[in-house]
Amino acid sequence: MSVMDIFATMEYGPAPEAAAPALDWIKERQPFGLFINNQWVQPSSGEYLESVSPATGRLLARVAAAGSADVDAAVAAARAAFATWSETSGHVRARYLYAIARHIQKHSRLLAVLESLDNGKSIRETRDIDIPLVARHFYYHAGWAQLMASELPGYQPVGVVGQIIPWNFPLLMLAWKIAPALAMGNTVVLKPARYTPLTALKFAEIVQEIGLPPGVVNIVTGEASQAGEALVKHPDVNKIAFTGSTEVGRSIRRATAGSGKKLSLELGGKSPFIVFDDADLDSVIEGIVDAIWFNQGQVCCAGSRLLVQEDIAEPLIARLRARMEKLRTGDSLDKAIDIGAIVSPGQLKEIQRLVDQGVAEGAEMWQPQWTPPSEGCYFPPTLFTNVSPASTLAQVEIFGPVLVAMTFRTPAEAVALANNTPYGLAASVWSENINLALDIAPRLKAGSVWINCTNLFDASSGFGGYRESGFGREGGKEGLYEYVRPAWETHAEATSATTEERAARAPERDGASENGTSPDGASGEMIDDKLSTPGQSNGHAFAAMLPAIDRTPKLFIGGKQVRPDSGYSRSIYTPDGRLIGEVGEGNRKDIRNAVEAAHAASGWASASTHNRAQILYYLAENLSIREDEFARRIVQQTGRSYADAASEVQVTLSRLFSYAAWCDKFEGVVHRPPLRGVVLAMPEAIGVMGIACPDDYPLLGFISLVAPAMAMGNTVVVVPSQRSPLSATDCYQVFETSDLPGGVVNIVTGERDSLAQLLAEHDDVDAVWYFGGTEGSRRVEFASAGNMKRTWVNYGRARNWLDALQGEGEEFLREATQVKNIWVPYGE
Ligand code: NDP
Repeated sequence: MSVMDIFATMEYGPAPEAAAPALDWIKERQPFGLFINNQWVQPSSGEYLESVSPATGRLLARVAAAGSADVDAAVAAARAAFATWSETSGHVRARYLYAIARHIQKHSRLLAVLESLDNGKSIRETRDIDIPLVARHFYYHAGWAQLMASELPGYQPVGVVGQIIPWNFPLLMLAWKIAPALAMGNTVVLKPARYTPLTALKFAEIVQEIGLPPGVVNIVTGEASQAGEALVKHPDVNKIAFTGSTEVGRSIRRATAGSGKKLSLELGGKSPFIVFDDADLDSVIEGIVDAIWFNQGQVCCAGSRLLVQEDIAEPLIARLRARMEKLRTGDSLDKAIDIGAIVSPGQLKEIQRLVDQGVAEGAEMWQPQWTPPSEGCYFPPTLFTNVSPASTLAQVEIFGPVLVAMTFRTPAEAVALANNTPYGLAASVWSENINLALDIAPRLKAGSVWINCTNLFDASSGFGGYRESGFGREGGKEGLYEYVRPAWETHAEATSATTEERAARAPERDGASENGTSPDGASGEMIDDKLSTPGQSNGHAFAAMLPAIDRTPKLFIGGKQVRPDSGYSRSIYTPDGRLIGEVGEGNRKDIRNAVEAAHAASGWASASTHNRAQILYYLAENLSIREDEFARRIVQQTGRSYADAASEVQVTLSRLFSYAAWCDKFEGVVHRPPLRGVVLAMPEAIGVMGIACPDDYPLLGFISLVAPAMAMGNTVVVVPSQRSPLSATDCYQVFETSDLPGGVVNIVTGERDSLAQLLAEHDDVDAVWYFGGTEGSRRVEFASAGNMKRTWVNYGRARNWLDALQGEGEEFLREATQVKNIWVPYGE
């Protein structure tokens, strides 16, 4: 090629990065052992796996295949180390994390080359994006280790954490997992992905170099069915943090259900890239390249669905095709390529299968004229048009360099199309009209929204999904809560499990009362010492002897009292077995109706925080007018003293005031990551929540759960205490007289555990809170795997609802919200 040709075409030749230092590093160490207790040990099976370069198909290294005995050893090492690491001061932990960050920087080029060799991603990306972000993550979390005592008072580390990471960002995912875990005083056992173990093994060397105490970080390479499953099921692991496919996330949710292990899942996505007709098209084209061809499209938050306003679709697609013709695919170590290799032949085949299916379903495929290298795993950048929103291409995560384009006319249509998948990981919005973009962002079901930018990450800004993209956040302060527990939980006894389960069995007598009392329980026997309030006259007692007017409460759905579908009632007794009333026996159909009503009231989420606060204050006002009646009801159901019951009512009133106060104060933060711009971290309502209430404190337990959920803009379907539901059903009139819109709170009485399970199984319920027994907790967690809804259960542990530390506050608000990070760059 002559100089003139080069000048005319602007072609440039390859610019290879030297592989020799990384290949030598591998050669000197392989076969790699397992990293347990800061030692390299051979796998007990004596078996090794091969790690192959996807760019060339050549064998890179042999690494140990851990089995369950090795996982046992790693967990035991982590457990032993936990005793001292968790007691090590935040400052000392900060120094270790700082040292890791510095060493990552010192070895940055070796790490970048190893990552490119092992994964097939371009050296430009590993050098300029992955590795700098890894270092930043450790620096950032060194800061949180230093600040933990002052900024997270009352919280403790979770314990031994099992971490399972994917192959698309091997070292970055390791950093996202290990940095917050160590900062908060946990110890870890990490399993890298089968295809990409090498940078994790180099990281293990760094752990040794900086002298991190043995057992704090353990790395076990191996297969999912051996090492992965053993880690998930290990009884001495306190938390699992997983990133990978939604399918595997679902199976981990089921496998850990009821075990008490904390769980965070970062799963797949099908993120929309929304272009309005006033967007700057040059920026949009480069944005699309970053959105779908970064890391070969093997990115959980890849902008894989291009949604374009109809009037600019044609010119945009034409420009995009021209740009695609100029993209370069090739060896990952060539600095002049845009797209590297697909991670494995299996993944390549899967991409091809989905592309073929798209063509068969009638979509129109376009690829550039050039062909990628024939040796190695390559797939050309691919664009589909004429795609229908329900087709495979538009719904299934392809995890490759494949973009599907669709059009919309109005902003409302863009939002509907964007939200039309079960996922909710990320979205990007392109418009020069910032008012429009900021109006669209809160309406998108996504954990990250990038305005006029895409695929930006920073340790300060939490990342994670809505809906089937998983739950939990990585990064930001919110990410720390995934690795801590309230300290009081350590001492919480399992009393709740036994009392609850005993109680659930005890009052199962059906039909009318055996001793002739009226359903309202207003017989002479009801008047006992506990009910006599100071200054009460005998005349009052005489009046109570009269037969009461029947007041059997129905269910409360959509702001109305409705009969249960079953037509059955459930008898409610005093603790010594006297009938005091009946409530409706709710069933699947009632739950369905209640969920529908809760969805219909979704406007509650956009009511102003001031307005929501006013309604909570009004509820308190109306409840306080009937303090005595509510206290007597508690006495009747629980047999506790009047004074005790009256104080439960007082704490309930205070709790309503607390959440009215929080309404306009739990507002989120503004992050300043290293970019010209800001990130708005906004806690948003989760949506429709199912809540199953505890039996202890029938009024306070009910309000303590409903009020924070409502305060944050959720609508709820509540199953009140099974044993003592009348305090909740007595609230119907309070709700009706407090301007609460119909459908915000729906109440279905009946058997708590089966109703909670129905809520957990329901695909239109977004989260379930359950406060009952151990088996009920397990059932809720297991059933929630269907649509990967968030759950918060007590595993049968008691919570002191009277104590503000345990019964109210930010823990409840965090559980009632999900953080959306909106990235807003600025400057021309
Ligand atoms: P997986 O979800 O299967 O793997 C992710 C990690 O989990 C790996 O370390 C894997 O081990 C491990 N693992 C798999 N099954 C289990 C199990 N039952 N118990 C414990 N650990 C397990 O992803 P794949 O690599 O198979 O990719 C399949 C699809 O998943 C992709 O096409 C993509 O759609 C999606 N994906 C999404 C990612 C994301 O970032 N959200 C990342 C990767 C994939 P091993 O590597 O040994 O199999």
